[in-house]
Amino acid sequence: MMSWEDNVRKVVPYTAGEQPRGTGVIKLNTNESPYPPAPGVAAKIAALDAEQMRLYPAFPEKTELAAALADYYGIGTDELFIGVGSDDVLCQAFVTFFNSDKPILFPDITYSFYDVWADLYRIPYKRQPLDENFLIRKEDYIPRESGMENGGIVFPNPNAPTGVLMSVSEIEEIVAANRDVVVIVDEAYIDFGGTSCLPLIHKYDNLLVVQTFSKSRAMAGMRIGYAMGNPRLIKYLNDVKYSVNSYTMNYTALQLGVESVKDTAYFNECCEKIVRTRETAEKELTRLGFTFPKSYGNFIFAAHGSMPAKEIFEKLKENDIYVRYWNKERIDNHLRITIGTDEQMQALYRALENIL
Ligand SMILES: *Cc1c(COP(=O)(O)O)cnc(C)c1O
Repeated sequence: MMSWEDNVRKVVPYTAGEQPRGTGVIKLNTNESPYPPAPGVAAKIAALDAEQMRLYPAFPEKTELAAALADYYGIGTDELFIGVGSDDVLCQAFVTFFNSDKPILFPDITYSFYDVWADLYRIPYKRQPLDENFLIRKEDYIPRESGMENGGIVFPNPNAPTGVLMSVSEIEEIVAANRDVVVIVDEAYIDFGGTSCLPLIHKYDNLLVVQTFSKSRAMAGMRIGYAMGNPRLIKYLNDVKYSVNSYTMNYTALQLGVESVKDTAYFNECCEKIVRTRETAEKELTRLGFTFPKSYGNFIFAAHGSMPAKEIFEKLKENDIYVRYWNKERIDNHLRITIGTDEQMQALYRALENIL
């Protein structure tokens, strides 16, 4: 007997970190910012005109948000695609650009949404192992060196959850060696001390750089992400996006996003604070017996010398401190600890002292 279930598109969904609510919780598990969005965002919320919601929203590329982002990065609005968080942007990019019979490539330890989208859209893929220090092996992505052809490439820089940064020159080598496919660089964490490969979009029409408001701009709840690349890449992305939904971004997000982009001073101050707290965390975690690769994100990916990560994870949770743990090959003895405020981090070190 046939069942409708035979024709269901089955997929194992991405599992996001827990979202406990409540005042007592110290939430260091999903790389959110510990600071509020730019003050102009709250002011704009108070001034929003509910009457406007009667109307369909503007097309993202025609909005003040697009103009503000283009101005911030010194690019044209035709080089910019805006979506509902970078997860939406990345997903649309997978559908739009990864249609080859050859496998797309990404690291074995990386953002665990990539294989979910690939499975969902039946895109063949191959995971290229990081080296023993969690570095991406550049040569694995260069066909003439690896002997391996591909249908596209995607990786975060800095990588997640390791925090390891790749240099712009190495990225350029990868992009230059793969001119026949699209290379997506997911820069969700680039504002915490890394150097963006954005300038390369003017040299390579096969490079798409993706960023988000969710981490450095403290607006994960508003869902704004964007991609930057050659106008032809952007046009193809928009064609797909507008084939799913003509009104892709909600009015509120478009209005509030602008306020964040306009306040460069506040943005820089928050990023610098997080970097300083990360530097202290490196010292404190080392003192407590952890080892970790140098992180360029708003998190540290750490293993302890004697106590298993799972045990530390569970004991921290009993203390209402949430960090991220994956029971997965190669990383099941690591914790990803988001950088919180100095006060939150002090509470973490105290709890770790007791646990260890
Ligand atoms: C957080 C994250 C994203 C997605 O964030 P959005 O909230 O959807 O913008 C994408 N890539 C990586 C590597 C991330 O860590």
